[in-house]
Amino acid sequence: MTDNAFSTLNLPAAQLDNLQQLGYQAMTSIQQQSLPLVLEGKDLIAKAKTGSGKTAAFAIGMLTNINPRDFGAQALVLCPTRELSTQVATEIRRLARYQQNIKVVVLCGGQSIGPQIGSLEHGAHIIVGTPGRIKDHLRKKTLSLARINTLVLDEADRMLDMGFYEDMEIIIGETPEQRQTLLFSATYPKKIKSLSAAFQREPVEVTVESIH
Ligand code: ADP
Ligand code: MG
Repeated sequence: MTDNAFSTLNLPAAQLDNLQQLGYQAMTSIQQQSLPLVLEGKDLIAKAKTGSGKTAAFAIGMLTNINPRDFGAQALVLCPTRELSTQVATEIRRLARYQQNIKVVVLCGGQSIGPQIGSLEHGAHIIVGTPGRIKDHLRKKTLSLARINTLVLDEADRMLDMGFYEDMEIIIGETPEQRQTLLFSATYPKKIKSLSAAFQREPVEVTVESIH
């Protein structure tokens, strides 16, 4: 067993089988550095390039904290765009296949809000979406973040570039203080450090230069 084997992690056997079926033979660098910390419940600032496998670096840990029998949103992943939200949701659904009935709902603008409200009414364990539309749902009270245990800020630098800071502030303010906050960013400018200082608790920093 090598250091980068998923079996070095304390994961359910069914998830190890699922990862094998997905063809994930070894952890990528960002996964190897992040997952042990994510599974320990630590807050994380992870700097890694596109294509490095960031989704699994948070999702595999996040999924161990989802109770399928509890039909409230337990994890929230904020992404800068609809396209990225859809990609992240697709990857989370694949990684969630070892558990039954985990529902992932995508909430983004540019799509009618009615069907989104319908999906939320049926119960959603994991929410993935863009800050603007998630804020809309909070305002309408069609979404509650009171039971979020894991918050992920994916491509945080891009969300800041797109002017989402205030929306993010409002959204994060609706989540419990007792939560795990995982921040992923391709770059590490000052404003990412202030974002982290505002919303994370003793975060561990992880940097990966190469993709694999
Ligand atoms: P990023 O968010 O860093 O751009 P993604 O999480 O979208 O990267 O992953 C990029 C691609 O790599 C996806 O198609 C994903 O399924 C695949 N992938 C991720 N981790 C592994 C792994 N450990 N082994 C094989 N493929 C992986
Ligand atoms: Mg990504």
